Amino acid sequence: MGGWVQGDWKWGDLGVRYGAELELTVLLNRFVQGLPADLPLTEGPDATKWRLEDSGSYSVASCFNEIRKLSFPFGPVNRFDFIYSLIWKVDVPLKVKAFGWRCFKYKIPTRNALLIRGIPLSSSNLVCVLCDESNESVPHLLLDWRIAEAVWFNMSLWIGMNLVKANDIMESFWNWNYFCFKKVRKDKEGCIWLAIVWTLWLNRNDIIFNNSICNVNDLVWSCKMLVWRWSFVGKTSNSPCNFYEFCKSPLYYLS
Ligand SMILES: [Zn+2]
Repeated sequence: MGGWVQGDWKWGDLGVRYGAELELTVLLNRFVQGLPADLPLTEGPDATKWRLEDSGSYSVASCFNEIRKLSFPFGPVNRFDFIYSLIWKVDVPLKVKAFGWRCFKYKIPTRNALLIRGIPLSSSNLVCVLCDESNESVPHLLLDWRIAEAVWFNMSLWIGMNLVKANDIMESFWNWNYFCFKKVRKDKEGCIWLAIVWTLWLNRNDIIFNNSICNVNDLVWSCKMLVWRWSFVGKTSNSPCNFYEFCKSPLYYLS
């Protein structure tokens, strides 16, 4: 910056230090030429101001937002991008919401995901241990393999929903969320969907790590039990119905 020296304005070094006299002159000339002609000069010392904040002080958030404006998405916006914020509103335990969000991002440790992250797996180790028919990916594990499909189907029958096959995990969430909209209490719309993916994931881990076996009936009952347990969180300390009553009219008790 600069300042008054014995009545004359003198520019400082603009932060350029030793060995840069030539560059300093060039920079200084460019800087001065770029100044508006009517720039008011005051007697006070110069100061720095961060223009992205009203306070004039630097903040990481303002810098981050400015940089973000300069970046462009790699392709068209995903039509289900708005779902990322919906998942956090569902009234279920935080770890389950976080799991749902990680599913959207393909960030759960399926065998496919481990390979992408550099963990060396042979082609035989990529195959889903549940059915031995396809590589273990998020859509396969949570939507497509035959037992998962049967669980989705049975759960859709339970709430009277016409199940439409989703192309990916986010579309699946949206279909269930949309069906439940205004049929259940606010923030419970994604509850059943999360109960299903959470149950399927725990079941997968149980099979891999505890050598357990699974069947569709048990999984469906587990999903329903989770929905029942999550249904009354924050509403009352005592559930207004028992599990069997709940199973007969799930949407009624969720509304
Ligand atoms: Zn499989």
